[in-house]
Amino acid sequence: MSKVGNWQLGREMEFPYEGARPARQIAYVFDTNKCIACQTCSIACKTTWTSGKGQEHVFYNNVESKPYGFFPHGWDVHLLEKLGTGRWSGGTYEGKTVFEAAAPNERVLGYAPDEADYASPNLGEDVIAGTIERGAFFQGIHRAWMFYLARICNHCTYPACLAACPRKAIYKRPEDGIVLIDQSRCRGYRECLKACPYKKVFYNAITRVSEKCIGCYPLIERGEQPQCVQTCIGKIRLQGFLSPPGSERADNPLDYLVRIRKVALPLYPQFGTEPNVYYVPPLHVPRDFLAQAFGPGVEEAAAAYRSAPTDRELLGALLLFGNTPRILHRFRAEAEEAIGYDAEDREVVRVPYTEPFFAREFFDRKNDVYRHNVT
Ligand code: SF4
Ligand code: SF4
Repeated sequence: MSKVGNWQLGREMEFPYEGARPARQIAYVFDTNKCIACQTCSIACKTTWTSGKGQEHVFYNNVESKPYGFFPHGWDVHLLEKLGTGRWSGGTYEGKTVFEAAAPNERVLGYAPDEADYASPNLGEDVIAGTIERGAFFQGIHRAWMFYLARICNHCTYPACLAACPRKAIYKRPEDGIVLIDQSRCRGYRECLKACPYKKVFYNAITRVSEKCIGCYPLIERGEQPQCVQTCIGKIRLQGFLSPPGSERADNPLDYLVRIRKVALPLYPQFGTEPNVYYVPPLHVPRDFLAQAFGPGVEEAAAAYRSAPTDRELLGALLLFGNTPRILHRFRAEAEEAIGYDAEDREVVRVPYTEPFFAREFFDRKNDVYRHNVT
């Protein structure tokens, strides 16, 4: 085991290999407050990458309703139980990660889901926590709650799948940190599937090898955001690149949202893989639940998010979500608009803070028709 720095844990941790942080790391921000669980992302991904034989149960992208939705069934609850209680002291995690809690003859603490756990991808959808009494009426605050959690491979800085592979078939690209399986080396031992705490590796019983989200690398290589990001109906997603810790740039939208304003948080940072999908936590959900899922930064993230309507820069960064297929490397917040730039520093998107408003006549004289939708 080597000692590697994990900024999400606020400390060093054990990992089977030397740390090899890429110069820039693919990363995503998902705003859970905007997701409507339309599953467009899941279907866009499925029709692009996993519509073949043996892939019937494979969803590189899924959207589950928390707290009772899971895919595969119970994935996070099982691992949290195995890992046991861990505490945060300020920003430092004092419990064990999946690498540190591994049995002496193993590299990662994990488990293999049963086949049946993949049978119902949407089990628990829209099931709320809490009860609504018969005859209850709306009093201004919903006591019952749930939220939608969109999930893909986190292209972790310290991938548990990679750590566990006895064939060294999994690798992390130095140019962008995308984690890939070399299928010609894979022999289908499924150690990666057991090790990935997010259960984002799948076994294909027809090809007899494992597979996972490839980060839409053909799109990334031509400067475009992945399918799940481009097609998102709720505009909840932004993909870009994170700089190494200590070299953040305030004009890089990912650095700005994740490390500078800290409005988006990693999912289960205590697992220790340094996942690179960051979530704006849902504002209406009990803080205890959020602290377990997203770590100790929840209050700060919620406060920052609440300040966005009066904070032009933060609002500007948030408005860039879903408004361009291009990957944004730089952004600028002007008085009336937020502007995004691509890798060549060309302007590729300009979003107004206030949507233009047009009112049309109810009766269109030119075409001699009445309009029902006039604003
Ligand atoms: S497409 Fe966007 S809004 Fe729809 S389920 Fe996926 S993440 Fe949520
Ligand atoms: S989320 Fe799982 S499959 Fe993806 S890089 Fe991390 S450990 Fe590997």
